[in-house]
Amino acid sequence: MSFDYDLFVIGGGSGGVRAARVAAQEGAHVALAEEDRYGGTCVIRGCVPKKLMVFASEYSGMVEDAASYGWQIEPGVFDWVAFKTKLHAELDRLENVYRGILKNNNVVTYDQRARLVDAHTVELADGQQFRAKHILLATGGRPVTPDLPGAELGITSNDIFQLDALPKSMLIVGGGYIACEFAGIMNGLGVETTQYYRGAQILRGFDEEARGLICEEMCQRGVDVHLGTNVLEMRKEGNGIRVKATNGTERVFDAVMFATGRKPNTDGLGLEEIGVELGRSGQVVVDDYSQTAVPSVYAVGDVTDRVNLTPVAIREGMAFVETVFKGNPTKPDHELIPTAIFTQPEFGTVGLSEEEARDQEPIEVYATSFKPMQQSFAGRSERVLMKLIVSKATRKVLGCHIVAPGAGEMIQLAGIAVKMGATKEDFDRTVAVHPTMSEEIVTMKTPVRSG
Ligand code: NDP
Repeated sequence: MSFDYDLFVIGGGSGGVRAARVAAQEGAHVALAEEDRYGGTCVIRGCVPKKLMVFASEYSGMVEDAASYGWQIEPGVFDWVAFKTKLHAELDRLENVYRGILKNNNVVTYDQRARLVDAHTVELADGQQFRAKHILLATGGRPVTPDLPGAELGITSNDIFQLDALPKSMLIVGGGYIACEFAGIMNGLGVETTQYYRGAQILRGFDEEARGLICEEMCQRGVDVHLGTNVLEMRKEGNGIRVKATNGTERVFDAVMFATGRKPNTDGLGLEEIGVELGRSGQVVVDDYSQTAVPSVYAVGDVTDRVNLTPVAIREGMAFVETVFKGNPTKPDHELIPTAIFTQPEFGTVGLSEEEARDQEPIEVYATSFKPMQQSFAGRSERVLMKLIVSKATRKVLGCHIVAPGAGEMIQLAGIAVKMGATKEDFDRTVAVHPTMSEEIVTMKTPVRSG
């Protein structure tokens, strides 16, 4: 059987581009189709622009703190248009980097939508068909909005980077990563920010003590968080949106953003027609090697709805190339993934929450919450949390949770120790770096709880 390509990748995001590049470097003849912008969710409408907005939003607090440190300085006005222009120039630059990576590695790119016709045939929107020995689905996911009257008046995280002007007031709906991150961003940029979450506490699934502290601190900083509250209906009122909520209130906001989850992009790809199995939320079902029910078709990243994080998609893409093009069957490792949520304050976490660990085995909990020096001197009352969950039987650190400025940076390093199987005594043997916040992670002597 003759093929046009050894590998045809559908989707030019983090996972797809990495797999295409590494396979091409192994000598494979590779093509990639992308209907939108190269770089995918992470670069174009996710991690990168979000983090730049986090940085932008944090300056408001820094100006206030600088005054407490003796600087004669006044908070100014945030110029959204100036920031947005620079932001988009940066995204254009990064998109070109992604295109350059593919070009320099001789990956043939098609800037159009693709679908599968059979186990080895890809058809592009313009009707061209190509046969490939292997096909990799890396089409990512997209935000979903709830089915309620007037929902079309709301925006999603895809739209937030395109706003012509910042609204004066904004309602953010949801309690996950995206909702909590944007609540902090908008509040920091000076938008009157309200958040409705239907559950009892934001960030479901994470360590409860950490979630509680983040929620308190978000409220302290000015986000108007309403738990146990959801939107019933919305309708246009003047230039605003009137929102009727389950808590019996009706309020008008300039803008409403839904951060109510994401869905894998599997519609119209011809997948089920050729025997690729889809799961309940439309995700591509794969085995431990990212292989679908059709042996020539693999899938990586958010389209598989395993762990929806950029570095995980990249690892899955690398493991796919190792397996298929290097003859070295490799399973992507989904255990003990450190992650950061860029709430304000930031949250870094790896391993089991206290609740998950307690269900699994007897544990000791070491935790400390305190006012960090820098913020305390500036007159802020905000607290940070350092927390370790330790197995009583093995003494291994099963989980590490940090709520603090810079927690994302800290958890990357703590993650190495936890991944290596460090015990509490290994942490204790490490000399503290003084004066820092993170030194507390090696100086906690007595468990606060055990069970
Ligand atoms: P999540 O699944 O994390 O959160 C969705 C939120 O919306 C939950 O609070 C959920 O409530 C709520 N929700 C769902 N349906 C409805 C509804 N019909 N009405 C009201 N609320 C609803 O999704 P996100 O969109 O926040 O993020 C998607 C994924 O993207 C994350 O899981 C993460 O993997 C990734 N991501 C990672 C980031 C990072 O690493 N920093 C940043 C951003 C995204 P409930 O809890 O009750 O189900």
